[in-house]
Amino acid sequence: MVVGAGLAGLACARALSATGAPVLLLEGGDAVGGRMRTDRVAGFAIDRGFQVLNTGYPELRRAVDLDAVDLRYLPRGVQVRRDGRLEDLPHPLSAPSAPWRALTSGATGLGQKIALARYAAPLVLGSAASVKRRRDVPAREAWSELPPEVVDRLLVPFLTGVVLEREITTSRVFTDLMMRMFALGSSAVPALGMQRVPESMAAALPPGVLRLEAPVASVQADGVTLQDGTSIAASAVVVAADPWTAARLVPGLGAPPEPRSVTTHYFAAPAWRGQSGTLVVDADGSPVANSVILTASAPEYSSDGRSLIATSVVTTGRTEPVDPAVVLATARAMHEAPAGEWEPVAVREIPHALPAMTAPHPMRRPARVDGVYVAGDHRDTSSIQGALVSGRRVARAVLTDR
Ligand SMILES: Cc1cc2nc3c(=O)[nH]c(=O)nc-3n(C[C@H](O)[C@H](O)[C@H](O)COP(=O)(O)OP(=O)(O)OC[C@H]3O[C@@H](n4cnc5c(N)ncnc54)[C@H](O)[C@@H]3O)c2cc1C
Repeated sequence: MVVGAGLAGLACARALSATGAPVLLLEGGDAVGGRMRTDRVAGFAIDRGFQVLNTGYPELRRAVDLDAVDLRYLPRGVQVRRDGRLEDLPHPLSAPSAPWRALTSGATGLGQKIALARYAAPLVLGSAASVKRRRDVPAREAWSELPPEVVDRLLVPFLTGVVLEREITTSRVFTDLMMRMFALGSSAVPALGMQRVPESMAAALPPGVLRLEAPVASVQADGVTLQDGTSIAASAVVVAADPWTAARLVPGLGAPPEPRSVTTHYFAAPAWRGQSGTLVVDADGSPVANSVILTASAPEYSSDGRSLIATSVVTTGRTEPVDPAVVLATARAMHEAPAGEWEPVAVREIPHALPAMTAPHPMRRPARVDGVYVAGDHRDTSSIQGALVSGRRVARAVLTDR
């Protein structure tokens, strides 16, 4: 039995049922997806917080039928807003003569470029295993040899929107892996929104495996009790809930990780000539971490031809609310949008978006705790890759034990 139909629970249920084992996947909510859900609002696809798939994630192709989710690709590279101007940070693979050019192009001065190239080259050219073997420290500490200009005006703005914190105390092994994925893969969204990913995984399960609106109140080694008091026996129980619920259900997990938080503001605007789908990150100290015109890459996110813009503010540790008018004005500037009506469509506040990965972060946590199994991004890495690989890894542990 698997509790929770987010990516980890779905990957686990899929791996178990592929062996012919009888599986029941209990989801407390009214749909699958967990932290990867999409709503329809005024004809727009509104993801519950802006996020993208990175096609460089090794587990993605294994766990998800990418044809079924009908991907739309964002242009490679990012743009950085500095001193009110947009600078291109092209993708390394579109500059074959220098694989690390994407990371160095934002650095001014030869010394800065050499320092950054020395840091970035092994990430792109070496193996993932070699990155994982690096001594784990807070990423900012790992960058202490780099020129402050490169750190503050390039790495921090880019990674803030990835790890959802501004101090970048996150594990350097994780941020290095993310930079590697950025260099090797492409960012994409399903044409109909991120929820298509878990939906397509659920569609591949045998009939009768998934049960929605079945919140679990407690778990034991031999079964679970639902919130309505029903007990269901099982030969093995996998808890694939979010880390904060998992810590309540499985006391042996100890204190849950600190949450990382984000709020995404969605705006509709008339499409304008020359608009780009490239992700824009802010290095000008505004509250906005990044902004993207989703419809420039995935027109299906809009049903009326207007553009849909997703602008994210990292709210981890922020005590003061951010004025939505400031977010809107910043987003317009970040996209160099011409005059025209911008309309707020939706705001998605996600206080529990990611479990913190403070260094040193164990890349794999045990599959077995308190007589049950535990899967989820908090057991591997706080990412789509981490959730998917965790689900499969825990399914393997269940099968090994039986
Ligand atoms: C705004 C945002 C942006 C992100 N951006 C990216 C990105 O760009 N790239 C990336 O790689 N990752 C990103 N992530 C992270 C990624 O989405 C998550 O790591 C991943 O979806 C977590 O999956 P999970 O299965 O581990 O947990 P969850 O998605 O939390 O799934 C847990 C499931 O368990 C269910 N559940 C909980 N309690 C119970 C209960 N008692 N009974 C039954 N069911 C229960 C929940 O309803 C949920 O469906 C982002 C996340 C957010 C929120």
